[in-house]
Amino acid sequence: MITRTRSWTALLVLAAAALTACGTAPGTPAAAPAPDRTAAPAAGRSAAPPTLAPGPQGLTPVFSKAPGRRDAPTVALTFDADMTADQGPRATAGERFDNPALVATLRRLKVPATFFMTGRWAEEYPAQARDIGRDPLFEVANHSYSHYAFTADCYGLPTLPRERMRADVERAFAAFRRAGVTRAVPYFRFPGGCYDRAALRALAPGGVTAVQWDVVSGDAFATDPDAVARQVLRAVRPGSVVVMHCTRSAAPATERALRRIVPELRERGFRLVRVSEQIGAARSQG
Ligand SMILES: [Zn+2]
Repeated sequence: MITRTRSWTALLVLAAAALTACGTAPGTPAAAPAPDRTAAPAAGRSAAPPTLAPGPQGLTPVFSKAPGRRDAPTVALTFDADMTADQGPRATAGERFDNPALVATLRRLKVPATFFMTGRWAEEYPAQARDIGRDPLFEVANHSYSHYAFTADCYGLPTLPRERMRADVERAFAAFRRAGVTRAVPYFRFPGGCYDRAALRALAPGGVTAVQWDVVSGDAFATDPDAVARQVLRAVRPGSVVVMHCTRSAAPATERALRRIVPELRERGFRLVRVSEQIGAARSQG
């Protein structure tokens, strides 16, 4: 039983590391991100979401914040729906990696938002994934299938071999489609925010724009919603991208924090937008 307890503890620690990783300082272990730049024009006047042009040597472009206008400030709230490939038994045992109350609050407050979903999460909660994906208020983006790391030494996450990176991203998009999400946006958030040139090169053929953040909410394992709200409200700037989580299991205070954050941001004149609008603004001002 001791081994069992120990391995269970190890799993919990790993899960904690994984989730915390998504809310730590952006870019820390990463190569210098490609600067935001204008992209080639979107094909026609379709509803295709804007993407950034490839970085140097055709690398996957990286977006973390829009230029922002003080006279018309915007902010994008993003929610990582984390579930690692090996957490199925925990979900079966009753642990909840979803957060329907959070989604309901976003709807009630009419907050546009971007969900970075793992493929594994969409498999576990297909009805919710479809529901989020079909709501015009929201957009569904890719947070990998497995929530494994795309670099070595990423907060203790297992590391994907380079040759499996692109397939892992494609597998998530396939899981979204199977769940009924018909219009996922071509944005990808690295688990833990960890990336390097090799990872950017591996994903380049898929044409995704990598999305980081400039505001850490600190909601991972937070139990005090006011502390989360204070942290966001202190750090947010025009054009910001805020990283939060959509999982009761490991971000239990997020929904309550939102009820403070959203009215205060609006009071300050911020318009809440999806990441696609921030990227569109980066393109037009780049
Ligand atoms: Zn994550």
